[in-house]
Amino acid sequence: MGPGPSDVHPRVLAAMAQPTIGHLDSSFIDLMDEVKVLLQYAFQTENSITFPLSAPGSAGMEACFANLVEPGDKVVVCQNGVFGGRMKENVERCGGIPIMVEDEWGSAIDLEKVEAALSSNPDARILAFVHAETSTGVESDARGLSDLAFQHDCLTLVDAVTSLGGSPVLVDEWGLDAVYSGSQKCLSCAPGLSPITFSERALQKVKNRRSKVQSWFMDLNLIMAYWGKGKRRVYHHTAPVNALYGLHESLVMLREEGLENAWDRHLRNHLVLKDGLEALGIEFLVRKDQRLPQLNAVRIPENLDDAEVRSGLMKYYNLEIGAGLGPLKGNIWRIGLMGYSSRPENILLCVGAFESLIKTCSALATVHKTLESR
Ligand SMILES: *Cc1c(COP(=O)(O)O)cnc(C)c1O
Repeated sequence: MGPGPSDVHPRVLAAMAQPTIGHLDSSFIDLMDEVKVLLQYAFQTENSITFPLSAPGSAGMEACFANLVEPGDKVVVCQNGVFGGRMKENVERCGGIPIMVEDEWGSAIDLEKVEAALSSNPDARILAFVHAETSTGVESDARGLSDLAFQHDCLTLVDAVTSLGGSPVLVDEWGLDAVYSGSQKCLSCAPGLSPITFSERALQKVKNRRSKVQSWFMDLNLIMAYWGKGKRRVYHHTAPVNALYGLHESLVMLREEGLENAWDRHLRNHLVLKDGLEALGIEFLVRKDQRLPQLNAVRIPENLDDAEVRSGLMKYYNLEIGAGLGPLKGNIWRIGLMGYSSRPENILLCVGAFESLIKTCSALATVHKTLESR
């Protein structure tokens, strides 16, 4: 129950154990085509450029910047946690100029600040932001940010690694342009693949570049010769065949459950966990209307030791939760309820484990105090 990877569903593991076939085998190409259609469903888009990159979520991020940013381009980057900082790095490494809009860690991106940054930088052409900040458990208003970008003639570049499959990501309805995700969070798949989708507008920007995409591996123009349409596919790299069996199975399962039902399950389980933790006196970091159901960031109670509790959970309950990052290190725990991990039995295990650890810790503190006062 950490911030990812989440538990991988046994059906996904079984699919990944099937015999490896060639990456240009016609039955594998059929599977690739199904993966693309299933990902269009997950992203709620009709974008024809929708496929999984053969690399983790961070590579999805890098691919979006590498394809869309050229030297000298201004990019407005929102930062309210770890991953916005990585976006800045990416802009700089592409030779672009990041215009930072910063918000406190634990708060959503402030639309007014973004509006101001877009107004004072009319030459910016991209707005980059993280929809679901896994480092803080915050969800930002992707639709509102996309509307602002549209008004200022900017493309949106969106991190949906933790949101996809766990809470609504409506690529077409919200008008998002370049979106990347990851296989190992709310999709219940193993780590290592990054689903991405590019709108027609984003694709035009890639096609009209003045310079070549600096990364050969991530150049969409080249990858599409392999992931594109029709039966004729050109070798680009050897696809991670078994990993794609796994993603295919996890997306089939998402469609069986139904996207709305999956969002609903994540939300309901979050509310149950919240009630249980609050009954133990544990408070949430993020205000109610900005909370991510799949990533619960809670304040560490003053009398408890961060590392001691986490290692107790691991040692006695076989339960992993996440620590705080950056300025929140030592202040919060991050409890994931992502994908296959988002189940009632996990909530019971987690709340029960916290209850008994807290009791043990406070009982021990009482004994220590009594001993000291003697
Ligand atoms: C996990 C995560 C990433 C990085 O994904 P990797 O698969 O670890 O490379 C990027 N952005 C967000 C918001 C994430 O939660």
